Amino acid sequence: MISVDVALTAILKEIEPLGPESVHTGDTLGRVLFEDVHAGRPNPPWDNSAMDGYALRSADTKGAKPDKPVTLKVVYDLPAGGVPKAPVGAGEAVRIMTGAPVPDGADAVVMVEMTNKADADKVAILAEAKRGDHIRKAGEDFTEGAVVLKKTSRLRPADIAMLATIGAAYVFVHKRPRVAVISTGDELVELNETPAKGKISNSNGYALAALVKECGAIPIQMGIARDTKESLKEKLSSAMCAADMIISSGGVSVGDFDFVKDVLKEMGSRMVFWKVAMKPGKPLAFGVIGGKPSFGLPGNPVSSMVAFEQFVKPAIQKMSGTGALTRNTLCARLTKDITIKPGRTNFIRAALNIDIIGPENTVTPLEGQGSGMILTMVSANSYIIVPAESSGFKKGEMVRVQPFDASILTGRP
Ligand code: AMP
Ligand code: MG
Repeated sequence: MISVDVALTAILKEIEPLGPESVHTGDTLGRVLFEDVHAGRPNPPWDNSAMDGYALRSADTKGAKPDKPVTLKVVYDLPAGGVPKAPVGAGEAVRIMTGAPVPDGADAVVMVEMTNKADADKVAILAEAKRGDHIRKAGEDFTEGAVVLKKTSRLRPADIAMLATIGAAYVFVHKRPRVAVISTGDELVELNETPAKGKISNSNGYALAALVKECGAIPIQMGIARDTKESLKEKLSSAMCAADMIISSGGVSVGDFDFVKDVLKEMGSRMVFWKVAMKPGKPLAFGVIGGKPSFGLPGNPVSSMVAFEQFVKPAIQKMSGTGALTRNTLCARLTKDITIKPGRTNFIRAALNIDIIGPENTVTPLEGQGSGMILTMVSANSYIIVPAESSGFKKGEMVRVQPFDASILTGRP
């Protein structure tokens, strides 16, 4: 049996990022940039006013005070979107709005709060202005040609602001991985059926599709394959055509009807490994079939989700083109003893309490760690990682925790 780390390395070796597609900037949230983005224009594009006020020559304001104002002639109004009609001469001012281009001749803007309107075409300046006051200089944010966004970044709202600022209507992003989800088992029924005795609802299909979506990829529900080689072959062939990656759940253990490995092999899959030294999630097959990475995840609902988090998520991230794989762990103080049998990496469902203002995080392992227990999964927000060689930890020790819940900082509403 191989370790979790060795398994992950073996998986990632088989994964290549998908190619590019052109997407409208408005639809790029969460997408991954395929290439560096260079600014086709500087920002700001020209010197402009940071305030509503008066554009003028700073030298003209020398000695201005509230009780000794300097009066200037207002030569025209300049709203945002307008262009200067003429340069500003000595003794002149232009009434300018925030964002309007600064007229030639002016080297400062005095904000309206530091002025009094003397009469229709005069303004009294109540304070001295320094050269450059309230002027946003052309290119002070970035210059033309600057790399403003790096490839492999997953785009956030601020990045989209940048794309729009430089006027990029379309950008190249990596295609989103299409991930086929196959559920296997003669015991499974769909949600519109009431399970008869011996049957259960297909929960993995839905859980795994949701996990795929959470990674920014596109799940393709293939439905239920029965525990026959024919049924599995049919679903796998359709999945190979439809998807970039295949995940199945169940049928990968050592039971009499666990055909997934055999069928994958018969269909020409190159098996990379089967079984990982972890708990839950030991029976896990990984291979490449027709160039498509294929995961045979365990059938137990919790095992399949744990295995997804450890292996499928990083694989999807790499296929999506992201530079860094985000499987962050953090340290927390344990509130209860954990005792386990050493030999496999254990992922213990837990409630992690992030202490934003206090000195440290705490984590509580939850009751009910059976690999079919969904309610514990619902109450959990993280896994405590117990390394393979460890037999557990004592209350008060610092342990490594892997959060899997996006709401971990905000709490669950
Ligand atoms: P298997 O690995 O196929 O023997 O499945 C292990 C356990 O997981 C069995 O109790 C199955 O009934 C259960 N199981 C397998 N697939 C699913 C599924 N799609 N949804 C819910 N439970 C499942
Ligand atoms: Mg089964």
